[in-house]
Amino acid sequence: SEIHKIAVVGGGGVGKSCLIIRFLNDVFFEQYDPTTEERYRKDFIIDGKATSLDILDTAGQEEFKTLGDRNFQKMEGFLCVLSVASKPTIGEIRTIIQQIKRIKGDQIVGVLVANKCDIAEEDRVVSLSQAEELAQEFGMKFFSCSAKTGYNVQEAFFQCVREVIKD
Ligand code: GDP
Ligand code: MG
Repeated sequence: SEIHKIAVVGGGGVGKSCLIIRFLNDVFFEQYDPTTEERYRKDFIIDGKATSLDILDTAGQEEFKTLGDRNFQKMEGFLCVLSVASKPTIGEIRTIIQQIKRIKGDQIVGVLVANKCDIAEEDRVVSLSQAEELAQEFGMKFFSCSAKTGYNVQEAFFQCVREVIKD
């Protein structure tokens, strides 16, 4: 089956590593090495079709820059993540999306994820409507997710793959 290359991007601490491990193994690990930059390979059946995914876990915005344009260029889809528990992460993901657009072309292929939605609404510092507005601005589908509970994680990754396939 075809191999699709997906990168998970977003500010430090938004839950990129936890989302990937939830998606791949359906577990939640509390603590991750924040400098981990790892690639994962797994096969899935998506919409009845065998699909191989090559998932790149990036390590924060600064490290992502060091990936360089060549590595970046090879990525087909982007799971763009912010955290409802951290206000700066909305500006961080906006900057990353703009960088991706500069390198890959005008329409970004991927989805926007607001992670940590297990946190009670009154304790969030980014609202879902703020996150949804950002997704609309860049023409991306939006998912509220929780790596901790697993809520919507598979749905977000699968939609990211669908965007790649139809691109
Ligand atoms: P990364 O730097 O984006 O890779 O973030 P990590 O995956 O290492 O997660 C950063 C921190 O957020 C860790 O302490 C995780 O336990 C926590 N975390 C990750 N996902 C969630 C989530 O969905 N809900 C909550 N409450 N915490 C999370
Ligand atoms: Mg990480």
